[in-house]
Amino acid sequence: MSKKDYYEILGVPRNATEEEIKKAYRKLARKYHPDLNPGNKEAEEKFKEINEAYEVLSNPEKRANYDRYGHPDGPMGGFGGASGGTYEDFGGFGDFARGFDAFGDLFDMFFGGGWGRESRRRGPQKGADVAYDLEITFEEAAFGAEKDIHIPILTECSTCHGSGAAPGTSPRTCDMCGGTGQIRTTQNILFGQIVQTRTCPRCQGEGRVIDKPCPRCHGRGKVRQQRRVHIRIPAGVDDGYSLRLSGEGEPGERGGPPGDLYIRIHVKPHKIFRREGRNVVMEVPISFPQAALGDEIEVPTLDGKAKLKIPAGTQTGTVFRLKGKGIPDLHGRGRGDQLVTVRIVVPTRLTEKQKELLRQFARESGENPTGVNKNFFEKMKDAFMG
Ligand SMILES: [Zn+2]
Ligand SMILES: [Zn+2]
Repeated sequence: MSKKDYYEILGVPRNATEEEIKKAYRKLARKYHPDLNPGNKEAEEKFKEINEAYEVLSNPEKRANYDRYGHPDGPMGGFGGASGGTYEDFGGFGDFARGFDAFGDLFDMFFGGGWGRESRRRGPQKGADVAYDLEITFEEAAFGAEKDIHIPILTECSTCHGSGAAPGTSPRTCDMCGGTGQIRTTQNILFGQIVQTRTCPRCQGEGRVIDKPCPRCHGRGKVRQQRRVHIRIPAGVDDGYSLRLSGEGEPGERGGPPGDLYIRIHVKPHKIFRREGRNVVMEVPISFPQAALGDEIEVPTLDGKAKLKIPAGTQTGTVFRLKGKGIPDLHGRGRGDQLVTVRIVVPTRLTEKQKELLRQFARESGENPTGVNKNFFEKMKDAFMG
């Protein structure tokens, strides 16, 4: 195939360093990339040449062969299938390249830190967030509370101070990856070179190896410990709320900030009260005489007992409002109300005397002894006959 001078194509001297070759290639590839020279056959040819040259000169073995034998495949080889591709083979590549904001990004991806994974892996990492479920009473949700809770949380091991190595020893730099935590592999393609990095299998990306692990944390550098956390539950929280305690989660990695602690609030059901938003809802049973004659009764509230006036002639299901006896607003904007629904209880076990009195009552009311309101029957009649 070609007998071109690869050094000449890239415009570098024969003793150019890898860095110089890469630089020259990048510069030329940007200039002649077909995406930037649509329809320009000359640029396309030039682009192919540049790639061919770079493929050889960027690979130390191929470059040595080229220098010595004039072709990259050693004494017996010639240009074979290895570099036989054409730009068209990378049809999809053009689209791929356009997906990046700047053309440079694509190059950085190929020549830089291997798909950007490296820095994330080795850099400081935020600690994990921790969730904790906390059950509180209805009253605690209403008025707030302060509590000390004990959370089993990963903390730095005090025996090895987080190093993971047994006392008196220390971790050493991984000899497989040289402490980077990453193994790089370089693959040459027509277009250039793909640098792939993967996590070092010996140190699992940590960059260090522990020969004698700490007996307490088994080399992890962290142990799960009960940690006491003081929490303040604000007045007005409701079931399902989460409180975020910034920085109270697990410790970060390599100097990263700690995670957060989320306290999920669960409110125990109350025996009497229910909650509807900021209102406290309850039902109270009253007797027929109380409803008919009126009375003053005592009802429980979040603030203790309160008096409630039942006016004469109160019907079952009537709702009375005790202003300001509800749940305090979470943002300090006042309190809700307490809504009391009265239920008239029909007695089930009557003495003979009570029965007689009720019959008397019924006769006095001009009703039949079943005690059903006459007006209601009149209305029913109207509805059906009218
Ligand atoms: Zn330890
Ligand atoms: Zn390693």
